[in-house]
Amino acid sequence: MIEIMPVGGYREVGRNCTAVKVDDEVIVLDLGLHLQNYIHYTQDEDEVDLSYKKLIEIEAVPDITEIEHWMPMVKAICISHAHLDHIGAAPFLASKFKCPIHGTPYTIEVLKVLLEDKEIKINNKLVAHEVNSIFKVSDNIKIEFISITHSIIHTAMVVIHTKYGSIVYANDFKLDNQPTLGLKSNIGRMKQLSNVKVMIMDSLYANKPIKTPSESVAKELLREVMISTNSNGKAMIVSTFSSHLARIKSILEFAKQLNRKVVFLGRSLEKYIRAGENIKVIEFSKTGKIIKYRHQIQTFLKKCKKPEDYVFIVTGHQGEPKSVLARMIFNNYFNFKKEDIVIFSCTIIPGEENIKNREKMENELKKKRVRIFRDIHVSGHGAREDARDLINMINPKNLIPTHSEIATTEQFLELAEELGYRENKNVFLLRNGAKINIK
Ligand SMILES: [Zn+2]
Repeated sequence: MIEIMPVGGYREVGRNCTAVKVDDEVIVLDLGLHLQNYIHYTQDEDEVDLSYKKLIEIEAVPDITEIEHWMPMVKAICISHAHLDHIGAAPFLASKFKCPIHGTPYTIEVLKVLLEDKEIKINNKLVAHEVNSIFKVSDNIKIEFISITHSIIHTAMVVIHTKYGSIVYANDFKLDNQPTLGLKSNIGRMKQLSNVKVMIMDSLYANKPIKTPSESVAKELLREVMISTNSNGKAMIVSTFSSHLARIKSILEFAKQLNRKVVFLGRSLEKYIRAGENIKVIEFSKTGKIIKYRHQIQTFLKKCKKPEDYVFIVTGHQGEPKSVLARMIFNNYFNFKKEDIVIFSCTIIPGEENIKNREKMENELKKKRVRIFRDIHVSGHGAREDARDLINMINPKNLIPTHSEIATTEQFLELAEELGYRENKNVFLLRNGAKINIK
């Protein structure tokens, strides 16, 4: 029998975690952070209690007490990709499980970097598997990591193969035919999957009646701004998601065309680049100097006599008050001049705090008469038409949407019904802690 326990990330965005029980063995998929709850809690306190109990109480991590009685049966934790809302709770929760953590090479490397950074030791074995590979967990369970595109490299669609059929976990994904770094989605293999009992899938943008454009479109948007805008004699500052190595690669390409030097400023950029360089998928530090610590950044910017010769890649795209961009603007780390260029290669992640922080930042930049280019971005999440394509391709017997608020989840339901599914018969809108059996 297959049982599915939604542990975190259902009817909410963040702290993704699903437990799948096949007879007397359990696989845990993702251990993610709820970033807003986590940041909100950690930024205001001096002495922060990071015990798993406290983190569960403030809803920063999945409530694994829901699967307490399953704990001794957990055979593997599989992490789908290295975004913090999928991996970020692992340092805090992994010790509660006596099993290995599996992921693709970049995912496992980022986990190692996070553990180092937080100075947390866990006893779980960390096992990296190539993308598009399969491994045995027990006599009855095999797990496959199939390449699927998203906004971070080495994202896997995790497939649990059992004697009853397969369980497919596609959280997160988009279907991008022209990724700018890393592998395409392995459509051939996806089409081969047969007898899929259930698919658990990212439904963040199920309300958008589009197909999400390719990352190569984001690259063209960037090209327009970086190359076609007259930037002679002006500083150019770009901020994007630190983990978005494909986007950073495009920024580096255009910086080279502009004959500008590159410098990376900020701790999180350093972390994700280091993880990528450790496994030799990128070599960004050959192109740009990476400066991690605040004082070094301050000194570097003070001494930088010709900012117009640089592209500065910085943290702070969401307006984060402790980011490098915030310090450049509010703490006078940088002497902005009229018509210097600031590019936000991102969208604002919905949430009152982000919106307020970014507004404050942009207002201050406007006062300094800086040119702002915002939303130079396409999402890493598929929309309604990507979801339709994936469902048609996998043809699962049952569907479970995750990774969205309830209103969007209901729009996912509409799509599923259009495709012949019926609510509570073979498509299920779950809530955290409400287990179901799959027939
Ligand atoms: Zn993601």
